[in-house]
Amino acid sequence: MSREKTAVAVLGATGIVGQRFIQLLDNHPWFEAEALVSSHRSAGKEYGEAAHWLLESDMPDRAAGMILLGPDDPLPCTWVFSALPGREAGRMEKDLAAKGHIVCSNASALRMDPLVPLVIPEINAGHLGLLAVQRRLREWDGAIVTAANCTTTVMTLALCPLHRAFGLKTVHAVSMQGLSGAGYPGVPSLDIVGNVLPQIRGEEEKLCEEPQKLLGELAGEAVREAPFAMSAQCHRVPVREGHLVAVNASFEQRPSLDAVMTALEEFCPKETEGLPSAPGRPVRVMRDPARPQPLLDAGAGRGMAVAVGRIRPSATGDVQFVVTGHNTLRGAAGGTLLTGELLLSRKEDFLVSGSLSAKPIQRFAAR
Ligand code: NAP
Repeated sequence: MSREKTAVAVLGATGIVGQRFIQLLDNHPWFEAEALVSSHRSAGKEYGEAAHWLLESDMPDRAAGMILLGPDDPLPCTWVFSALPGREAGRMEKDLAAKGHIVCSNASALRMDPLVPLVIPEINAGHLGLLAVQRRLREWDGAIVTAANCTTTVMTLALCPLHRAFGLKTVHAVSMQGLSGAGYPGVPSLDIVGNVLPQIRGEEEKLCEEPQKLLGELAGEAVREAPFAMSAQCHRVPVREGHLVAVNASFEQRPSLDAVMTALEEFCPKETEGLPSAPGRPVRVMRDPARPQPLLDAGAGRGMAVAVGRIRPSATGDVQFVVTGHNTLRGAAGGTLLTGELLLSRKEDFLVSGSLSAKPIQRFAAR
């Protein structure tokens, strides 16, 4: 099927997540980067000059020659992928939604807003139904959907099939998070080389509230959160890419280890079938007791699948396991792009017929 590409703007385009967006949008079958936006520091420069390119592939030629817009410049297209810092994102993204833009955001600012869907497409695509309520109550011509925190995403992809099968009661998570999760330039080298930092500001709070919203149900005009207890301890480790989470979980019904493995292996959501960034099976079970490792396994499914291993009984819960995933792909730009693909492919459901009382989405640029 050939389709006209949808033009998108990337906010925070020079940052580490913005770079991933540009990498993934290069030759994307459905979306095309039309505008790149940075802070006032870089606005007006060519992208190739302003961005300190950190990725393994070459900077796409087309992006390199684009002139960066500043945060206050009008955007020439309806769709926006946001990799703004959390502190800037709330105000800017709401302004854009009010002006008619469809914002798919990575930032934390609006994730727990009761009118903003927090979406991992394989887990809770139906929460996009909240967009109709959002647009009506906020009187926005556009809309905002957010992706989850990177560590939340990696962990919750593994928890989802287990919650559906056995009902989560408690989860205790200990994370070891790679350096790219802190953006660029990120953590000073003298703090982290040969070291582990036992605090990532704000991270434990996100890990303790986002999974319940993700695994909750859209009931009427609100998400009813899943009622399990979460605790988390988050650590920064000297790994470049990839987050690893050690999870200890208990359930309403204590499952056998075989049943846990089966639930994880059979998790094959229909909602993402046919979407260009979908990894097929989003959870890969590893039986080698020395796996998963971020270096070897965070790239599973082009960085869009998570790898689970060390599944064993727990003396303090029912089951423990380790999960790893790619923070800037699955946990950031790749996950948000997948949500954008889902929303574009089902815009009749979520942005048009599902929002009868909201104004129609406007088009900023006819291409
Ligand atoms: P980053 O490397 O620090 O990049 C920040 C980007 O935002 C840069 O493009 C920067 O432009 C721009 N920016 C800074 N201040 C701005 C302002 N006042 N107005 C407009 N743009 C501004 O950060 P990152 O790691 O890419 O993270 C981006 C967002 O994604 C954050 O909200 C983060 O929490 C979230 N996130 C990150 C990860 C990850 O693994 N890194 C995972 C999930 C979610 P200049 O270059 O011009 O300064």
